[in-house]
Amino acid sequence: MKLLATVLSVAVVLSACSRKEPEIDPQFGPGNVCGDPALYGEAIGTVDGAGACGVADAVRLTAVSGVTLSTPATINCATATALKSWVEDGVRPAVGDTGGGVQSLRVVAHYSCRSRNNQSGARLSEHSFGNAIDIAGIGLADGSEMTVLTGWNGQYARQLRQMWQAACGPFGTVLGPEADRFHRDHFHFDTADYRSGSFCR
Ligand SMILES: [Zn+2]
Repeated sequence: MKLLATVLSVAVVLSACSRKEPEIDPQFGPGNVCGDPALYGEAIGTVDGAGACGVADAVRLTAVSGVTLSTPATINCATATALKSWVEDGVRPAVGDTGGGVQSLRVVAHYSCRSRNNQSGARLSEHSFGNAIDIAGIGLADGSEMTVLTGWNGQYARQLRQMWQAACGPFGTVLGPEADRFHRDHFHFDTADYRSGSFCR
């Protein structure tokens, strides 16, 4: 009887574990990362870069909450998680049913060992540490795109501003077309810490 109880309790524990396993949808990538069933990609461990560059516990993120990335993004889990918050609480509500809904994000920068805005002598960009991702457009189900460059002061002005605003909070730094000439065509998001809260421009 005692043996049966032990066997049963082991079975209960095992089934509890298996229920916790996130579902993997091959459409979005090789598996789940960062312990979050909404984040798809693969864990790639430490990325070593020149000098201070590099990413600890990096992932190659391929999709977020069912939204695919145009290219796999090498970032850390804090940044992947912030991107998820932005997609769910910023992008989806802003896009709504426009163009059949959001389908993809056009990623134009992720991990890259470089100075800020590629200016020589400038400090290392947060891209150098896997803390940053740049998005230039939101792909819609009908094949069209909400493009930051043309949409910000055009057809998608309201929606792009709404999602820019929604990034302020999940991300520590949010830069868009109003920030400077370097960000006319994309949003820069990073998870660097700021003593005074998020910096959004
Ligand atoms: Zn950037």
